[in-house]
Amino acid sequence: MFWDEAIETIKPAELRILQEKRLRETITRCMKVGFYQEMFRREGINPSDIRTLDDLKKIPFTRKSDLREGYPFGFMAVPLQEVVRIHTTSGTTGKPTVVGYTKGDIENWSGLIARNLTMIGLTNQDVFQNMVNMGMFTGGLGFHYGSEKAGITTLPAGTGNTKRQIEMIHDFGVTAIHCTPSYGLHLAEAATEMKMDLSSLRIGIFGAEPWSEKTRNELQKKLGVEAFDSYGMSELYGPGVAFECPEHKGLHIWHDSYLVEIIDPVSGKTLGPGERGELVVTPLVKEAMPLLRYRTGDITMIMEDACPCGRGPKLARFTGRSDDMLVIRGINVFPSQIEHVLLAIPEVGNHYMVYVDRINHMDEMTIEVEVSRDNFHGELADLKKVQNKVIKSLRDVLELRTTVHLVEPGTLPRFEGKAKRVVDRRGAD
Ligand SMILES: [Zn+2]
Repeated sequence: MFWDEAIETIKPAELRILQEKRLRETITRCMKVGFYQEMFRREGINPSDIRTLDDLKKIPFTRKSDLREGYPFGFMAVPLQEVVRIHTTSGTTGKPTVVGYTKGDIENWSGLIARNLTMIGLTNQDVFQNMVNMGMFTGGLGFHYGSEKAGITTLPAGTGNTKRQIEMIHDFGVTAIHCTPSYGLHLAEAATEMKMDLSSLRIGIFGAEPWSEKTRNELQKKLGVEAFDSYGMSELYGPGVAFECPEHKGLHIWHDSYLVEIIDPVSGKTLGPGERGELVVTPLVKEAMPLLRYRTGDITMIMEDACPCGRGPKLARFTGRSDDMLVIRGINVFPSQIEHVLLAIPEVGNHYMVYVDRINHMDEMTIEVEVSRDNFHGELADLKKVQNKVIKSLRDVLELRTTVHLVEPGTLPRFEGKAKRVVDRRGAD
């Protein structure tokens, strides 16, 4: 199902014309922002130099730290009278980032969310319970407006009060939910405890934190939903930048509204399709707060293969943040890649630690992983085959030799909250 079939299945040549037109409009809007005036002056760029998509590379990146320095309204391209809404991102350090929206922005943004919801099969026959923060966090109101626009019966449930959430799903015949993957699992457990039937549910949208295929299976099984991945960030409106289609193989990026590039997070060099790196986005329709080449810090890659659904290119599911990246003997390694490999090997459990050392001027990576309980019969020495399998699988994915130590079940640290599984000891010498 399509919300806007002409745009969603636009031919590459037509898309390029549209993108270039919108890029030029974006440049015009950016010239009302002090930060970009100063950047263009410093770099000796004339706004009229940026005509085509290839010209984009002449422009330096914009970083989150730049937005923070512009606090509160330094990045607005319109007077505050034209801003109808403000969201902020949760600042883990220092001041939050402020994002403004014109009436046109709210229109564009809810249109993108309506596109996502229609793509995954939601219609005015559905009842949608939106279980995320409805305040300054963009996930709440973003989905709310988009869902209403698509004609879906929408419940702005917000967070908390799990018992009430479960009763609403049951009593209102809710068919679709939106929440974080961890809340989804909590909800399933609570419903089981309450002996409440959630069989009206058929679709679950999960976002705001990266989640694995293993979590997908768990969510689908425990909640009885088809689980969809949602990607966005407040600086780029919010959710609705890229969204998984029913093929469940990557997230379609809405190319008429966002130009995407993948770069090596260290060198800043552009990477090609199939190469994993940091996502850089230039929004093409943002009015209040246009941005150029915004470094998202999120790690993904552009997928080369065409999707049977007929929409444009996709991004692979996200696998972490560039801040977490390790450089081992010149090769970029994301801890999430290691996790992904280990989770796919049933003979080992999901508890592991990664140690990085510099030995004789060489980076060495050592991985300790617990053998799964079913495979442990008292002697680690019996498991040489498993050890070799882990080493080989890691080498295939990371293109890197690693040292692997299998350890007994239950011996590695457990983490509450954010796990600290990577210990980089190279700074010590
Ligand atoms: Zn598709």
